[in-house]
Amino acid sequence: MDTVIARIDPSNPDPGMISRAGGIIRSGGLVAFPTETVYGLGGDALSGDSSRAIYAAKGRPSDNPLIVHIADMKSLGRIVKSVPDKAYALAEKFWPGPLTMIMDKSDEVPYATTGGLDTVAVRFPSDPVAQAFIRAAGGYVAAPSANLSGKPSPTSGKYVVEDMDGRIDMILYGDDSVIGLESTIVDLTGTSPVILRPGYITLEMLRSVLPDVSVDTALLADDDKTPPKAPGMKYRHYAPKGDLVIVEGERPEVIQYITDKLVADASLGKRTGVIASTQTASSYKADVVLDMGDASDHDEIARRLFGLLREMDDEEVDSIYSEAVSGEGVAAAIMNRLLKAAGHNIVVLGDIQT
Ligand code: AMP
Ligand code: MG
Repeated sequence: MDTVIARIDPSNPDPGMISRAGGIIRSGGLVAFPTETVYGLGGDALSGDSSRAIYAAKGRPSDNPLIVHIADMKSLGRIVKSVPDKAYALAEKFWPGPLTMIMDKSDEVPYATTGGLDTVAVRFPSDPVAQAFIRAAGGYVAAPSANLSGKPSPTSGKYVVEDMDGRIDMILYGDDSVIGLESTIVDLTGTSPVILRPGYITLEMLRSVLPDVSVDTALLADDDKTPPKAPGMKYRHYAPKGDLVIVEGERPEVIQYITDKLVADASLGKRTGVIASTQTASSYKADVVLDMGDASDHDEIARRLFGLLREMDDEEVDSIYSEAVSGEGVAAAIMNRLLKAAGHNIVVLGDIQT
């Protein structure tokens, strides 16, 4: 398949290009598009065939449901059984934005889109290109992240081209994603709201609107054994080709530990990599040292993380050490993604208070 790669200026999107992309979705095709979280791989959410095509293009298991993207509040009613008051409250504060809400689905949403579930995940993104595209596409775009299954979510058009060229009809190639982590997912189908996937919208932020929000116990377990409620969370996403170990502790001990490991790995002929903060990056002697950003700037680290994991793959590194990120909120979402990428391989040094 020939993939049209359309450069798009986010401050002035070409209406002809947007309407062409929308037309592709309406006629059953697939288009990758930028959003503020990561790039999405879109198809018509109300068409089972389109959703099946998305799974095929990604190589994604079809029990892993898709998020339905809308571009205005009034579109919500058609795809859910009823809009819970709590959804209005959260939407008021966080939509458009990086928050996905799970609600009971209406009959209009095919099971192919929801992975066989009676619930549907909905998000109203803030990215202007995404909004224009969703409107042109008819209002309902099902989209997972636009990466091949098993690769990090793409935060830049170049990674979408890398994974999807030849597999889909069109790529809207805009700017890099400003957030860089997938949306926060909150389940509104139970008695109280539950966070199924942490993200840029943090527990504290959600609780400022709904004090009874809690976190899925499977996320808190931080292991691979407790089954998560968001089906997608059970897959080991974002796994780099090399072995990734996260190292947590006081800064000097972390540097010492990683340095010792680098020496040992190098003596075994391994190609080594380190993902470190701006403050510590120059302390390491590895084949590849990547700067994740200022240790206290979690937004910057979130924006860079998935790109760094891809760079490590491109560099064909055998063993990778990443400094842990400490703190709450976005830092917790970053650690969630890092832990998944590392298959929960973390070394905690010394006497850490958590
Ligand atoms: P992605 O689009 O790649 O960010 O992945 C979508 C995530 O949303 C996956 O982790 C899914 O398991 C989750 N998800 C989508 N729909 C539902 C749903 N109805 N119930 C629970 N989780 C969902
Ligand atoms: Mg994904």
